[in-house]
Amino acid sequence: MKLLEDKGAIHRHTFEGGPSRFEHADASHHDHLIDIETGDVIEFTSDRIEELQEEIARRLGYEIVHHRLELYGRKRR
Ligand SMILES: [Zn+2]
Repeated sequence: MKLLEDKGAIHRHTFEGGPSRFEHADASHHDHLIDIETGDVIEFTSDRIEELQEEIARRLGYEIVHHRLELYGRKRR
């Protein structure tokens, strides 16, 4: 549940030099954590990750138009 804490905040982000650059800046955007043992797909959003991706793309001279993020993991025991 902790992963869902940031959910819903992405659309409020704006970036240096103009309004939000997110092409998918709607409430439906989320990324995924896939449980490799059960196949469960957990949806999450993270403002920090979204911002970091923008930063990296900007540094490389790009503007992101779409992205997919999938984390693969197993439950900690
Ligand atoms: Zn994302």
